[in-house]
Order: sequence, then C-alpha cells, then structure tokens
Amino acid sequence: MKAVSSSYMSRLLPLRLPRVCVAVIGAGPAEIVEKAEALARDNTFLEFRLDYLPKPALALPRIKKFLEYHPHVIVVATCRRAANGGKFRGSIAAELDLLAKAAALGCQLIDIELQTAKHCKPEQIERLRSKAVLILSHHDFRATARLEQTLEEMVKVPADYYKIVGTAKSLYDNVEMMKLLEKKGDQHSLIGLCMGEQGLISRVLGLRAGSAFTFAALSADEKTAPGQVTAQELRSTYRVEQVDAATRVYGVVGDPVSHSLSPVIMNAALRRENVNGVYLALHAKSLKDLLACVRDIPIHGLSVTMPYKQEIVEYLDNTDTHTGKLGACNTVVRGQDGKLYGFNTDIAGVVRPLEQRLPLERAKILVVGAGGAARAAVFGLKERGGDISIVNRSAARAQKLARQAKVKIVKRADLKKLSFDVIINTTPVGMGNTRESPLHDYEINAKFVFDMVYDPIETHLLRLAKQRGASVIPGIEMFVQQAARQFEIWTGKPAPGDEMLRVVLLALQERSAARAKGESAGK
Ligand code: NAP
Repeated sequence: MKAVSSSYMSRLLPLRLPRVCVAVIGAGPAEIVEKAEALARDNTFLEFRLDYLPKPALALPRIKKFLEYHPHVIVVATCRRAANGGKFRGSIAAELDLLAKAAALGCQLIDIELQTAKHCKPEQIERLRSKAVLILSHHDFRATARLEQTLEEMVKVPADYYKIVGTAKSLYDNVEMMKLLEKKGDQHSLIGLCMGEQGLISRVLGLRAGSAFTFAALSADEKTAPGQVTAQELRSTYRVEQVDAATRVYGVVGDPVSHSLSPVIMNAALRRENVNGVYLALHAKSLKDLLACVRDIPIHGLSVTMPYKQEIVEYLDNTDTHTGKLGACNTVVRGQDGKLYGFNTDIAGVVRPLEQRLPLERAKILVVGAGGAARAAVFGLKERGGDISIVNRSAARAQKLARQAKVKIVKRADLKKLSFDVIINTTPVGMGNTRESPLHDYEINAKFVFDMVYDPIETHLLRLAKQRGASVIPGIEMFVQQAARQFEIWTGKPAPGDEMLRVVLLALQERSAARAKGESAGK
C-alpha cells in the first residue's frame, strides 16, 4: 500500500494524472501566463517554474486568474532555489511562503527539494500538505548514484510524490533508474528520470517502469533541465502516452548521435504501420554500456552508426553475408533467444535507388572515396555486375579496397577525360554546407550523380552535376532506403517509404532553415 493518498490529493486530483507535465517558464508574469494560456487546451498538466521569474510573487494574481479560467488544468508550483539547481535567490522561508500562497490560490501541487525539506519542521511540511499535494524532489546534477539510499532518506519526509532525478553518465544509468522505479514503485508514488542527453531512455520508458508522470519542455529553447525533451517530441515522436509493457524498443547507437535523423524517420514509420514500438537516440560512449542495455531493457533492434559499425561485429551471434563481406554492421536484431543478429542495409541503400533508374549489369560506376560507405557501394554494385572504379584522396586506402573487391582505381587527374554511367560520392565533402564539392565541374562526366551526403538535400556536387546535364540522386534516398530495409528486418512489414521520405525531408528543411537563420544572425 502506497503511503501517498492524502485526503487533499484524493479529493482534488484525478485518479491518474496526465503522463506529461509541461514546464512553463517566462521572463515576467505576463509571459509565463500567456504561455500557459496557449498550452492549456492541449496540455492539462503544467508546472509553473516561479524561480525563473525575477519577482515570482508578482505572478501570483495572474496565476490565480489563469486557474479560475482553466479549472481542468492541473498545476505544479515550483520555486527551486539556486543552491538546488533552480534560479530562486531568496531564502527557504521565502520559497515556502511563495509556495503556500500558490497553493492557496489554487495550484494543486507544489514541489520542494529534499534540501529545503530538511530545514523545515514537521509541522511546516504538514501545513503545506494540507494545502496542496506535495512533491518532494531530489536532483543530482553530477551522476545517477545512490538511488535507493537517497530514496530512503526522502521517504523520511512525508510527501505525496517522491521525485528522484539523476544525471545519466552512461546509458545504463537509465536502467538503474528504471530498476528503482520498478522495485519501489509499489511502495511510494515515484517520479524518476535521468537528465542529460544520455537520459532520454528514462524520459521515454520511465513511465512504464513506474514513474507517475514525466516532465517536458515547452520548446527546445525553454528547457528547464539538461536533456529535457519537448512535450511535442514526447507525444508525437516517442508517443510516450502509448508506451506500455509490450512496446518494443529500438534505437540508433553512435557517438555522437544527437544529429541523427533516424529517430524522426523510424518513429514515423512505426506510427504509420501501427507497430507498438519506440525508437530512441542512444549516445553510447562504449559498446559495453550499450550491450548491457540491449540485454536489460531489452532493446529489440539497433541502427548502428559511427564509430561502432565495425566494432560491433565481434559481439554478434550471427551475421548476414553483407555484414561478413563489408566487416561492418549497421542493423542489429535481438532474437527472442536473446542472441544478436547483424545485417548491413547500407548496400540496399545504395543499390535500390540506382536499380530503379538504370540496369546495373555492366554499368560504368565511379565511387569517390574508399571508407565504410564506399565499401557498401563497391561490394553491393559489384555484386550486381557493375563495372566499378574508385578514386580516393589517399591512394593506399583506395588500393586496399580495390584489391579486396577486385575493382579498378582511377587517378584524379584522369577524371576530366573519363565518363561514367554513375558517379557516387561517398566522402563527407559537402556535408552541412552548399559550397564544397568533392569534384570540380569538369570532372563530372556522368549520366547520373549520386551524393551520399544528405544534408543539405541539394549539395553543391548535385548542383554542379545538374549544370553538367546529369540526373541527380540525393543522399536522402539512400538514407530512406537503408532505413526502410531496417524497418522490414525488425517488423516483417513493408516499410512506409513515402511517409519516411516525407518526414525526413521536412526535418531537413527545418534544419537548413535554422542554419540559415543562425548564419544571418551571425552576420
Ligand atoms: P569514412 O569511413 O570516414 O570514409 C570517408 C571517406 O571520405 C574516405 O575515403 C576519406 O578519404 C574521404 N574523405 C574524407 N574527407 C575528405 C576530404 N576532405 N576530401 C576528400 N576525401 C575525403 O566515412 P563513411 O562512413 O564512409 O561516410 C562517408 C559519408 O557518407 C558521410 O558523409 C556519411 O554521412 C555518408 N553516408 C550517408 C549515408 C546515407 O544514408 N545517405 C549512409 C552512409 C554514409 P581518405 O581515405 O583519404 O581519408
């Protein structure tokens, strides 16, 4: 039996609170309430971060009016002191006074930090609890550690919810947090999550582990904790309100991984095909950390990106022929037996867009570059009967790949005299800008030019290729095709390619608009 249901709580709060509480901040009373007004229709659970206001007391009359107009909205009042990671510079007495006033005017929940509670007399805590539901919080901005001991300390203070927040220094810290929620969630009403980029797992899966609710930001610029995700992302991308015990977990693992578009494309595909699954960005600093999560969460499928494509191969129980040939794996499936099976869908990513346009048997193809992506292109297209040549900045790497795949090498100086059916850029040159190209215009003599770089959508190389009369294939097609193949391997369903392309194009357009805004602001 949980020791949480004060009479106040059972009288005033719904049996189950909404699962996402949106933190609202503002520069002044008008702004914070205006933002709450805009949110209130679709978000019935808000946290007013009074500590972000220069003079929090001035906001109270407006908050009172807001609550009168929006009786269906449940509000948490928080005025965290700077010493505890908030922004309030006043005393503990001033914090408690503000929260008591917020409760008196209708805020149903108030949040105080354990450190504040330790300075309170039991009667003060009881008085607060008689006015509002009390969340007792503990934030650790350095690590996720001593969770059980911290909780033991917290429960000595009577409260309605215990909110325990760590900072994820590894992916496995999320598992530790979720283990605590699972173990102690039937004794106390808990809210548990990890901050930081690596804490995403706990923000999305914490609810099913037993967290009563979770917190979200209003927008990317209004985060009140490191790694906080926006309410829109939590609901639309990760569908946290639908995540349950049967939800399969997938993710992209890399270091870094924050730039990856895979969560956008894969979650859209899972949603479109009604697959009960969620796909997360997993920033792993080591494979050991990742593999422990794969076992304990468990994680059913992985997209593997740099720098782990080669390193992961030795941990796999079985691989497809492409992974064996390339020595690199970009897709992992965890079987029901717990075994890990590796696939490489980069080959499908290169081959599919090309075979839709021309016969590959005997097609003259130039691969620019000799790294991992080039290997997928060279081996995949050779397998289809292509006549492959490689050109690369460093000769030694080109020679090695050419020897292994039994293909030719051409000299950069000869390119102006040569022509091809297809030129494929597999170098990162041109990524993130519209100025750089791996080839000069006079070196582009081909019917088709395929750029694996996918951001921007139209690279400088593709622009030059169009001017030279070539048909162009943007890298986004490869990105979508390799992701589509992953989806098919994991779910056994045909991938919704059009929907995947649509969302990824939208995300890239937003990115390039943000980049242009940043560039013009910097001028
Ligand atoms: P990688 O293994 O590091 O290989 C990079 C290759 O590019 C090497 O051959 C390297 O030449 C060459 N290179 C790097 N910088 C260069 C420069 N400034 N000038 C000339 N050559 C340069 O990388 P990767 O995994 O193959 O990835 C390469 C690119 O493909 C990345 O941009 C990646 O995002 C993209 N990619 C896209 C998709 C997709 O879905 N569209 C899929 C996979 C990869 P050296 O040998 O001389 O160092």
